[in-house]
Amino acid sequence: MFHRTRNLLSKAVVLDIDGVLLRGGKPFPRAQDAMQLLKTARIPFVFVTNGGGITEKEKSLELTKKLGIDVTPEQVILSHSPFKHLAAAHIDQRVLVLGHERCVDVARSYGFHKATTSKRIHEEFPTIYPLRKPSSSPSCNFSGQPVEAIMIFHDPTDWGLDMQVVCDVILDRLQYKKDENTRTEQEQGQGQDPLQKLHTVPFFVSNQDVVYKSDHFYPRFTQGAFVEAFKSLFSNYNGGMDLKITYCGKPFKVQYEMAAKALAHEASLLGFRHIDTSKVSYYGIGDNPPSDIRGANNAGKNWTSILVRTGVFDGADGENDPVDPADIIVDDVYEAVKFIVRDD
Ligand SMILES: [Mg+2]
Repeated sequence: MFHRTRNLLSKAVVLDIDGVLLRGGKPFPRAQDAMQLLKTARIPFVFVTNGGGITEKEKSLELTKKLGIDVTPEQVILSHSPFKHLAAAHIDQRVLVLGHERCVDVARSYGFHKATTSKRIHEEFPTIYPLRKPSSSPSCNFSGQPVEAIMIFHDPTDWGLDMQVVCDVILDRLQYKKDENTRTEQEQGQGQDPLQKLHTVPFFVSNQDVVYKSDHFYPRFTQGAFVEAFKSLFSNYNGGMDLKITYCGKPFKVQYEMAAKALAHEASLLGFRHIDTSKVSYYGIGDNPPSDIRGANNAGKNWTSILVRTGVFDGADGENDPVDPADIIVDDVYEAVKFIVRDD
């Protein structure tokens, strides 16, 4: 009986990273103590961040260095981690990847073998963005293939070019280079484009957050800000047409489903033999109400949301977020873990 109780998983924790454990890349004073406390209490945990732009392995190495514990890639869920499950469907297709340059390597590591960037497309179609010339000649060995999906892996860094290329992909305008001599006058003119193939290219976004807390005094724009700006531009330009976008990242459920699976794996490594997910108390610790707290609040009945005061949320004592109220509010991650360890 004793062994069965000991082997029955009762608690599991999801931790956000920026604003909870780190700020501006540096750990908070009690972050390492919080992690030690979780380890000593044998409570499985994973990290779920709306950050990304690197592989899960790279992030796990960074966390290992900064948090004083061994973190494995399996414990890391980045905003774009769910994209891994899309790779099989797009394995031979050309996919436009947005984010800084290295995101294309992350995409390839997931299995998107024909991942490309706005920069590569600009090289292929030099007149697509008249404000500047492409920095090099075409270097993509699958140029000419249509782009069949758009995926934002991380904050776009070249909004003007990215917006133009995404718009052209959605409106199926990348074929014009070849068709230039055969297009009719009407097609070459201004106004509504008769070749417009409306919006059949799937558009995936990995982070809906509009701002995040860096080491700058005020919150900074992130991926969601680009998407909001693009949606408005696209609708304005196309007579009010709405974009169809598939989101992942927090607060979307897919992130918490991945987290629950990863936590079951962690629990099995800790020796838990009986994992009944309906009997596990899950705790989601975060600093950003619309992503961390909304996500945990919507993840299921057995989830508790814990808001820390070290990041985006800066409410005074006794104050909760009016839109996404947390179940528990504490000063920092150490207090959060202390609460979890004692909670019955
Ligand atoms: Mg955060």
